[in-house]
Amino acid sequence: MDNKVGIYYAYWTREWDVPFYPYIDKAHDLRFDILEINAGTLAKMSSNERQKLRQYAAARNIALTYCIGLPLEFDVASPDESTRKRGIKFLTDQIHGIGGMGGGYLSGILYGAWPATMPKGKMSRKDYLSLSIDSIIQVAKIAEENGVILCMEIVNRFEQFLLNTAEEGVAYCQAIDSPNVKLLLDTFHMNIEEDSISSAVLTAKDFLGHVHLGENHRMPPGCDHGHIPWSALMTSLKKIDYQGSLVMEPFLVPGGQVGRDIKIWRDQSGGFNLDEEARKACIFIKQKLLEAK
Ligand code: MN
Repeated sequence: MDNKVGIYYAYWTREWDVPFYPYIDKAHDLRFDILEINAGTLAKMSSNERQKLRQYAAARNIALTYCIGLPLEFDVASPDESTRKRGIKFLTDQIHGIGGMGGGYLSGILYGAWPATMPKGKMSRKDYLSLSIDSIIQVAKIAEENGVILCMEIVNRFEQFLLNTAEEGVAYCQAIDSPNVKLLLDTFHMNIEEDSISSAVLTAKDFLGHVHLGENHRMPPGCDHGHIPWSALMTSLKKIDYQGSLVMEPFLVPGGQVGRDIKIWRDQSGGFNLDEEARKACIFIKQKLLEAK
């Protein structure tokens, strides 16, 4: 398999809102194909700034993908109509920004707030899901017009209460019924919620649009850091003829808003050079893709 392999910029940062240029350089130097960046920051840029970023990445042969978790004030599953409207506008601005970059993949917790637990009250999970589905049906039309694929990230129960398994994600995509709405599966989350990582990939099948890679404790993939079954993951991706990207999303360093949101309370980077670990993880994943059978 020769899928593109990427890394998430926040591996190196403590805040979400940062200039992306240094991380495009790092991704290029470390032999990645993709840098994944924060879609909220992209949406805030002027169209000139976006074009500059696009050209800078293209000149270094780095593709860009985009990710976001909706802040509470933009929750598209909120019972409050004005909050849902703000959320739809928030996603629309990002889709327009990505459209201006030539289109691409917008992934993450797009279907509700992040992090979020079920609010107290009479509303059921099904009620929240149906509000979310109504919102995303509207957003999907805008994605279709702008060449943007939305990938709903399935995350563990401690981070969101609406979509925790691939099976639930497939039902959600079927309810939306748009070619531009797919799923993101992340090995860190699958390790917590799924019977097996392979069975989750096989369940997602044609709905799988994007993959995040990370060890069970969010260390970089492979190199004896954790216990994710990487060979089994690659075999299942090959079985479904997965043509999409694989973006690693390691988080090791506490501090800042990134550390608080991801809940990195201990320094897991002890003794490592972050660039060197990313380089080794990229080689590891590309090797596993080559060996997939
Ligand atoms: Mn992820």
